[in-house]
Amino acid sequence: ERIVTPAADELERAAEAALRPRRLEEFVGQLVVRDQLSLVLQAALARGATPDHVLLSGPPGLGKTTLAMIIAAELGASLRVTSGPAIQHAGDLAAVLSSLEEGEVLFIDEIHRLARPAEELLYVAMEDFRVDVVVGKGAGASAIPLSLPPFTVVGATTRAGLLPAPLRDRFGFTGHLDFYSPDELQRVLVRSAGLLGVRLDADAAHEIAGRSRGTPRIANRLLRRVRDWAQVRGDGSLDLRAARSALEVYEVDELGMDRLDRAVLGALCTRFNGGPVGLSTLAVTVGEESETVETVVEPFLVREGLIGRTPRGRVATAAAWAHLGLTPPDPLAP
Ligand code: ATP
Repeated sequence: ERIVTPAADELERAAEAALRPRRLEEFVGQLVVRDQLSLVLQAALARGATPDHVLLSGPPGLGKTTLAMIIAAELGASLRVTSGPAIQHAGDLAAVLSSLEEGEVLFIDEIHRLARPAEELLYVAMEDFRVDVVVGKGAGASAIPLSLPPFTVVGATTRAGLLPAPLRDRFGFTGHLDFYSPDELQRVLVRSAGLLGVRLDADAAHEIAGRSRGTPRIANRLLRRVRDWAQVRGDGSLDLRAARSALEVYEVDELGMDRLDRAVLGALCTRFNGGPVGLSTLAVTVGEESETVETVVEPFLVREGLIGRTPRGRVATAAAWAHLGLTPPDPLAP
């Protein structure tokens, strides 16, 4: 796996658990969402009612799961966790819903991946706190309505646009998480270092933050690698030298690009003269699937203004040439 991927496997998620902020006031950045959410939760607490259902959208690794846990903690409620892909049949969801207790928070990760029948069951449950349990089969089947105690759904999605409108409309509050600024990531890092029991110099935190692609998960991962370097090859201190040396070992450059990012950008500039070139040609040149280049490499390069997408293919921008230390071709040259 790439060190700069915003996704995490089970092992990494377990390592992350210790670094998760537990309360809203510990959650760094995302001031707008935090403030709005705080109002929703405080008002519900004051009324002694369950809050509106909450939808959190945004790229992976920005804190959606963390916020779901915080919502439950702030409400003093217990949290039940499931995900779109884990629910194969509507019956699986009916079982979860009918076992909910009053006030519980049900977190559904990747909610855009729920199958259609489960989705339909969910929005009735969210709106009317009711689930229709189907008994029997075929022509003799009948639905018995089962009323549910009030509860709160927190849905998380990386693709809010894929949610069908009826489901999206059941959420009274939607918060969109955005990439973090380097200053915010620096605060995430200092906090994480404290929890890991290590002292992180301010300039080292600044260096790591700048290479973390706006994503706390990547920042925390790079911090762990810097800590390894300091322990094995340094004198244990997490200073600027340790940060730079560790990130050099992992080939993460000043922009947070890794070897694959640079390969794509390098091929675009040197093999195709800056483009335009089609996605599949570019992918073959770097020995990757088109889908990989399109979904895991390009978004960051486009966001950083290094690659442009045009109807005729991908093009390198002036910033790409500058980042690679290359001179762009002269458009007037013969
Ligand atoms: P995914 O979509 O992959 O499940 P996610 O958006 O749910 O990702 P989280 O699992 O909540 O992301 O966060 C990833 C890691 O980043 C966690 O370890 C968490 O501690 C840290 N993190 C995320 N947001 C913040 C924040 N605002 N302040 C401090 N740490 C954060």
